[in-house]
Amino acid sequence: MSTTTYTDLPLAEEHGRSATWLITDRDGTVHTIAGVFLGMGTSYRPEHKGHPDTDWAPVRTHCSTCRWTELRIFRGADRTFYVVNCGASDVPGERDLVHVAEVATPFELVEVLTAVDRRTQKVSLPMPARRALAMAASHDADARDAYVNSPVT
Ligand SMILES: [Zn+2]
Repeated sequence: MSTTTYTDLPLAEEHGRSATWLITDRDGTVHTIAGVFLGMGTSYRPEHKGHPDTDWAPVRTHCSTCRWTELRIFRGADRTFYVVNCGASDVPGERDLVHVAEVATPFELVEVLTAVDRRTQKVSLPMPARRALAMAASHDADARDAYVNSPVT
């Protein structure tokens, strides 16, 4: 396994890379992930929308060019899954907010990735999570099982 250490989150095209990542979350805690970057999904869109009169989307205006979600899945050498959720922002004065969740099994992985709609209570796998899990499925047999057997894909 590679001993290269990164402090930046990997890009989507780096999926399958083995390394060590030092990931700082929104509280300043540094998480050490030594293993494989399995996959990533993002809600980023290249075209601004919804704020024709301002350079940046005001708070509560949904524009996936100004603010978006990046979801990454890693698997540690000890088999632990890591789900790294990055609430990213290009808006001046705002910063990326990173959250790291550790789970031991593929079924918990799906639990962490699913979202419940606040209005309808409908359970779904949001697009970035679905994409990340699909990418992970090509690198990890347990992630593949979780993807294939997921009740919400
Ligand atoms: Zn925008």
